[in-house]
Amino acid sequence: MNTECIYSGEESRWLALENQPVFILCDARTNGFCIATLMQHMPFLSKAKRIVVPAGESAKQWDVCLLIWEALIQEGAQSNAVMLVLGGGALCDVGAFCASVYKRGIRLRLIPTTLLAMVDASLGGKTAINFQGIKNNIGSFYSAEAVYYQPHFFQTLPIRELHSGIAEMVKHGLLDSAETWQKIQSYVAADFYTLPAIKASQAIKNRFVSADPTDQGIRQALNFGHSIGHAIEACSLETDTPWLHGEAIMLGMQIELWLSVKKCSLPITVYNEFVQMHQRIFPYRLPFLFNEKQLLAVLMHDKKNRDSIRMSLISSPGVPQIQVSVEESLITEAIHENRYQ
Ligand code: NAD
Repeated sequence: MNTECIYSGEESRWLALENQPVFILCDARTNGFCIATLMQHMPFLSKAKRIVVPAGESAKQWDVCLLIWEALIQEGAQSNAVMLVLGGGALCDVGAFCASVYKRGIRLRLIPTTLLAMVDASLGGKTAINFQGIKNNIGSFYSAEAVYYQPHFFQTLPIRELHSGIAEMVKHGLLDSAETWQKIQSYVAADFYTLPAIKASQAIKNRFVSADPTDQGIRQALNFGHSIGHAIEACSLETDTPWLHGEAIMLGMQIELWLSVKKCSLPITVYNEFVQMHQRIFPYRLPFLFNEKQLLAVLMHDKKNRDSIRMSLISSPGVPQIQVSVEESLITEAIHENRYQ
């Protein structure tokens, strides 16, 4: 399905929703912070019913799916219902998953409220919940019929959350071309929060998605940084200081660039450039309260694995390599070399 994207100022294109059975899925935070902005821009949604679930990564779980489906049933949602998700990537993932199976699939619209969700999670039709400690273990492909992008939502987003979204934009830059990689290296954090930067980043992701909508081939390049990144994110969730998705992906990319040097002849200069950018844009360091063994145990469950651990690496900016087999001993060394940088 082709997803219609509308940006701030184009709200009237959604006027037809006024007479539809719309269910706004929000979390405890977006219900407080984002509803007013949404109603200011789309007052015709004032009659929509609201379903509120817990905020953040903890929403991506089976129990929350049950809450959502129960609420839909209680509110009388039929197969013509429209699920409108107002939230970050986690809520988009769980909301889209629930919409994909409720009555065998109801209409889905997304209103991403974080930078990360705007440049990544709202695009490409992947839905997911975490299960048994494994990120995105259960999910489906289900495209939103439309998505709305409104940078006003950033005004209430904590700076750490806003920052987290930069990671996927950096990834898109590395996957696009040497020129884009050079360009974004000159960016300060605030340059990433602009609508032109967001649109450019979305275009890169969309290029990979259109070439391979079901993730059988080149779309897997978008997983760069995510094998190790997801393992860091999952292990950190078991500690008192969970890392945000983008924070984990940033370190995941650094470790996977180190592996790219070893496995794909990536010039070491690119790895060094990345380390500098990582230190400049993410100057704080989160406690690394897990060891190589724990990360490897999570990595074993990665969806890309076959007979060995497989990763999406790069041989130069703009030249991804998918399904690269990487030895456990090299991964251990890579984590050890990069964990305190
Ligand atoms: P998030 O969804 O966990 O949101 C972060 C926090 O910010 C939450 O507490 C949320 O309630 C709050 N929040 C959201 N918008 C706000 C606003 N405007 N003002 C104040 N608070 C606000 O984090 P995220 O970084 O947006 O998303 C991360 C998730 O996205 C991960 O679960 C990741 O797996 C997923 N993801 C999915 C895809 C995909 O293709 N489906 C791609 C990338 C990431």
